[in-house]
Amino acid sequence: MKIFILSSGEYGSKIVNGIANHGFAEKIVGVHEFPPYEELPEFIEDIQEYVPENVPKADLIIATGIHGDVNMVIPEVVEKSNAKSVIVPIYHPKQVPIGLQNEIKKSLGGEIAIVFPKPFCSLTPIGDDFIDEFTAIFGKPKFEIHADDVIKSVKVLRGAPCGSSWYIAENIIGTQVDDGEFEANNKLHNFPCSSSMIVDTGTGDTILHLASYKMKEAIKRTLGFTNRVAVVDREICEGSGGCEHFCLKACPNVLSGSDTISLNDDGKACIDPGSCGACEICVNECPYGVIEIYEERVPVKKDPK
Ligand code: SF4
Ligand code: SF4
Repeated sequence: MKIFILSSGEYGSKIVNGIANHGFAEKIVGVHEFPPYEELPEFIEDIQEYVPENVPKADLIIATGIHGDVNMVIPEVVEKSNAKSVIVPIYHPKQVPIGLQNEIKKSLGGEIAIVFPKPFCSLTPIGDDFIDEFTAIFGKPKFEIHADDVIKSVKVLRGAPCGSSWYIAENIIGTQVDDGEFEANNKLHNFPCSSSMIVDTGTGDTILHLASYKMKEAIKRTLGFTNRVAVVDREICEGSGGCEHFCLKACPNVLSGSDTISLNDDGKACIDPGSCGACEICVNECPYGVIEIYEERVPVKKDPK
């Protein structure tokens, strides 16, 4: 697989380095660097002025760290490169608004696979050859952990493209297993994660928090338990009665495509302890006060993806 990267700013550079340092250096056939977004006009009249002159043949285009209208170079670059697949990771709420995402998709036509993972470390296989080859190493984190009461070794099976998963794997050795998810979260912030701390209106949470939920999920699914999770009291959940499922409508993980809250046949809510980030949003949104945060060991199912 040949990867051509369009990059801008510090976030873009971090992704380029992460991908190159963790196994895909030889697959990168070129990197085109755009100026940081502060130096680019908000509205672009002639996108041709920004299309790179030298575009190599490639299978997969990754457009990382690019804000606003400049992303309209993507269809031009796809055509010049003959690429079949595109990944546009979203790390900032204002980076590629939904309207612009739709415009890019429309310009590409139906033949090209394109995804906008928010954040990049939420990407999982989608059934596209090149995107799935990428997710063999990069995307939603997965670890293999050997532990007794403490964590003895950690292997990254799939890591965040910025490289944070490899940093976390090295730095949680020796941690008590009960503290694993929390210590991994601290290490993600130390790395640091470069996703935005501005609240994303599409999900009601920051993209930085979404990234931390994915990373903690990887630890929880490997260890098989969590020590902090939201739990619904199903006896008194009003989901089968008058409640409009406010928890489901407000959960940032649900709003970003995960099935963290589901409804059973009688309409009552059920929270998946593996992907729940314990953000407490549902606790505050439930008008009947039936969700609470448990701070004791709760089993977690292994991740099939
Ligand atoms: S908002 Fe509360 S009462 Fe309504 S479905 Fe969710 S948990 Fe149940
Ligand atoms: S605490 Fe509630 S809103 Fe937050 S991730 Fe868990 S289920 Fe979703």
